[in-house]
Amino acid sequence: MREVFKQRKKPGVFSNELLAEIEHTHARGEQTIILLNRRGYSSFILCRSCGESIECPNCDVTLTYHRSDSTLVCHYCNHRQRAPSACPTCASKYIYYVGEGTEQIEEILRRRFPRLRIGRIDRDTKSRRHEFEKRLMDFDKGEIDLLVGTQMLAKGHDFHNVTSGGCRFGRCRIGVAGFSRCRKDVSIDHTSCRDARVVAICRGAY
Ligand SMILES: [Zn+2]
Ligand SMILES: [Zn+2]
Repeated sequence: MREVFKQRKKPGVFSNELLAEIEHTHARGEQTIILLNRRGYSSFILCRSCGESIECPNCDVTLTYHRSDSTLVCHYCNHRQRAPSACPTCASKYIYYVGEGTEQIEEILRRRFPRLRIGRIDRDTKSRRHEFEKRLMDFDKGEIDLLVGTQMLAKGHDFHNVTSGGCRFGRCRIGVAGFSRCRKDVSIDHTSCRDARVVAICRGAY
């Protein structure tokens, strides 16, 4: 069933403006960062038959689907369980994966831009410390064209020559918002970008 959902044509996650911006940025020899505040593959899974979502047994939150190891994870207490093939409440096989996390954003971008070298940094990759540092170094050396990560990526790292960016508000698609030119650290402008779920930052060459 999951295959069917995968093949369903989803509405575009990214606006055409942002896709064009990524392309132009690459053509200029510059790099792009896409920030999203949700790691994992899908925000949560939902049963289409009974409407139940799967919550953490300890916390009052839905579990996030991580496709790389096919588990459901609580991002608060780290409870983990195998992703079910049927709804635990009504046994229906119509399980829906809702919302995009960094894993899925990376996958979508890889499909859309097969020629770009794409890397991902979030807590899942940070737990493998060597990999985390290597990816940051690769990005710094210009060996990664597009980096996908959670906002953790923007904290404590200097990315210079930010030229433009895009935000995602609520359910809207990701578009380009007029980020003012910023030569200092990447900072997510929370006043103009309230509730932003995704921020894309294009970095000029040093
Ligand atoms: Zn929990
Ligand atoms: Zn159900």
